Amino acid sequence: MSSPGRYHRQELLPGVGAEGQRRLRQQCALIVGCGALGCASADLLCRAGVGRLVIIDRDVVEWTNLQRQTLFDQRDARDATPKAVAARRRLNDVNSDVQVHALVADFAPRCATRIIAEHRPDIILDGTDNFETRFLINDAAVRHGIPFVYAGVVGAGGMALLVIPGQTACLRCVFAEPPPPGSQPTCDTAGVFGPAVSIVAGYQAGEAMKILLGLHDRLLRSLLSFDLWQGRRTRLEPPRDPDCRCCVHRRFDYLDAADAGAVASLCGQGAVQITPPQEMTMELERLHERLTGVGSFRLTEFLVSGTLGEERGERGEPVGLTVFADGRAVVRGVRSPERARAIYARYVGT
Ligand SMILES: [Zn+2]
Repeated sequence: MSSPGRYHRQELLPGVGAEGQRRLRQQCALIVGCGALGCASADLLCRAGVGRLVIIDRDVVEWTNLQRQTLFDQRDARDATPKAVAARRRLNDVNSDVQVHALVADFAPRCATRIIAEHRPDIILDGTDNFETRFLINDAAVRHGIPFVYAGVVGAGGMALLVIPGQTACLRCVFAEPPPPGSQPTCDTAGVFGPAVSIVAGYQAGEAMKILLGLHDRLLRSLLSFDLWQGRRTRLEPPRDPDCRCCVHRRFDYLDAADAGAVASLCGQGAVQITPPQEMTMELERLHERLTGVGSFRLTEFLVSGTLGEERGERGEPVGLTVFADGRAVVRGVRSPERARAIYARYVGT
């Protein structure tokens, strides 16, 4: 259902008009990760009338998210709603002209190519919080020739860069390798100043909209970074690396990585995520029945979550287990990957 005049103020902008608006309606944006940046950018693109948004996120809404993740509310935190699902509900209320696809999953090598083939995005927005996934997005964007906007916020600062495959520097031209795990401050250790998110998301969504509108002469094409504590702002145009593994030699190390199931410590959360080796669908009701015998668990449409009665963490704390429909699990109260894997094998299956 379209409301006449909804986009009037946007159509007044030079280079947009009714034609630009029609164009936006034909386009699709893939938003990988729906934390603070993903929320803010998705909101901007949805209000602007981008025809389709695909939002992929692996987490559920928590209370500590509400300070800066603007698509979520207290009910979502109370219900532990998956972020992609909560975002879709909110965005449907904001603008029902826009089709929103919610994927509750990890953007991983095994599914990245399928998701891109299925949805054919015209732009990819980085809403992730880690370099592994960013390099994976960069690989997928370069391989399929899709523009991609990298962005990140930590503390009161942030940066963003538009990558146009074949034309501008890609992420691996700028950072050849991801920083070693634990070497960088993260939002869990350094905090996040909410207003910094708005600036980076504004830049990210702005570049994305210019791409979707075909306004190539207005692209900023630069790595923008700033800090709101110091008022520092820099803008530089990183050169392409003539020897870049990714965008020159077309080696897609992250996309082609053997994806034999993974165990990853979730930063700063005292939790470990277990990913099964293949794409699968977990029968949540049956799992819930089984787990009810060994702890206190609840079942929702999207997950089974609760506490195991007979397990204690390294510090004597209760061990929490959340299992999603794609077979992924988050084990809380445990830091050792081996222990988390053992708990997964014992209670969920192998
Ligand atoms: Zn490159």
